[in-house]
Amino acid sequence: MLVVMQADATERQVDDVCGAIRAMGFEPLPMPGAQRTAVGLIGNDGQVDGSHISGMGGVAQVLYVSKPYKQVSREWKPENSVVEVAPGVRFGGPEVPVIAGPCSVENERQIIASAHAVREAGAVALRGGAFKPRSSPYAFQGLGLEGLRLLAKARDETGLAIVTEALDEEGARLVAEYADVVQLGARNMQNFSLLRTIGRLGKPVLLKRGMAATIQEWLLAAEYVLAAGNPHVILCERGVRGFDPATRNIFDVSAVPLVHKLSHLPVVADPSHGVGVRDHVPAMARAAVAAGADGLIIEVHPTPDRALSDGAQSLYPEQFAKLMREVDAIARAIGREIAAPAGTGAGVTG
Ligand code: PEP
Ligand code: MN
Repeated sequence: MLVVMQADATERQVDDVCGAIRAMGFEPLPMPGAQRTAVGLIGNDGQVDGSHISGMGGVAQVLYVSKPYKQVSREWKPENSVVEVAPGVRFGGPEVPVIAGPCSVENERQIIASAHAVREAGAVALRGGAFKPRSSPYAFQGLGLEGLRLLAKARDETGLAIVTEALDEEGARLVAEYADVVQLGARNMQNFSLLRTIGRLGKPVLLKRGMAATIQEWLLAAEYVLAAGNPHVILCERGVRGFDPATRNIFDVSAVPLVHKLSHLPVVADPSHGVGVRDHVPAMARAAVAAGADGLIIEVHPTPDRALSDGAQSLYPEQFAKLMREVDAIARAIGREIAAPAGTGAGVTG
């Protein structure tokens, strides 16, 4: 339930509504807006009867949220949320920021070269896993803390924001210390204790869709983070598992407009994991921007044939630079543009 106050409602009237919600056994969440304040009711998992609140002083309207998730829903917050992850790097606004870099941080040379290459092409954030969720325990697991230190070094050299995955609670605290965005991977989308921990950390979160998650399950996972007090959630479509091994996953472009309809949160697209085949990543990235994605996350490696993970889906730096020019043209065709790296004033070059 959401109580929308009149534009001229007094602080006292807002307090009275909060008191009435508490008296019902729930928690009020006042949300001051540009025009007027709304008071959300949290803590209920189903319909509540707020008819007595509609008659209270200063109340314009009582709305019922019809979805199982509430704080992430458009009904709760009609305007788009903009998540700023570093000064000037905003997801959910008119600009479309691009995150790029290797699947994993492998060594200093590799991550620094990747950072320079993707920045040169116009990316505003660097990706790279320090803690890797691998199907096999014998595969490269990431450099851990050393990987985070190398990412911080890459940020110092290039000014790129850092996006990197956390696999568990302890890792999340470390990632929050070193990075600008904590990535929560597909395999952990329903790790509810990790979602709560990340919610309490308050750091921006890139929440990947689980590989067999419905849109509703994905939005409920985001709800865990918001319910724990962190509104800085960016959703990321990365494909769902299909039946055909011709592609790694089925990249669900339709999730972008669908989620925009249901939620105010920004939606980023990851065509690298979505399709999993290098030569098809650019087409899917273009499709995602055309569909309205609020950002892209793309795997790029200086020498993909020698990558320790996901080489087959990683773009060569030249391929990425070409893709950036293409997606910028597409963004402009729909009234947006690819976000420019800080301090350059210009967007995609070349
Ligand atoms: C990744 O970004 O490298 C990754 C492991 O992604 P996902 O969780 O989507 O599989
Ligand atoms: Mn990967």
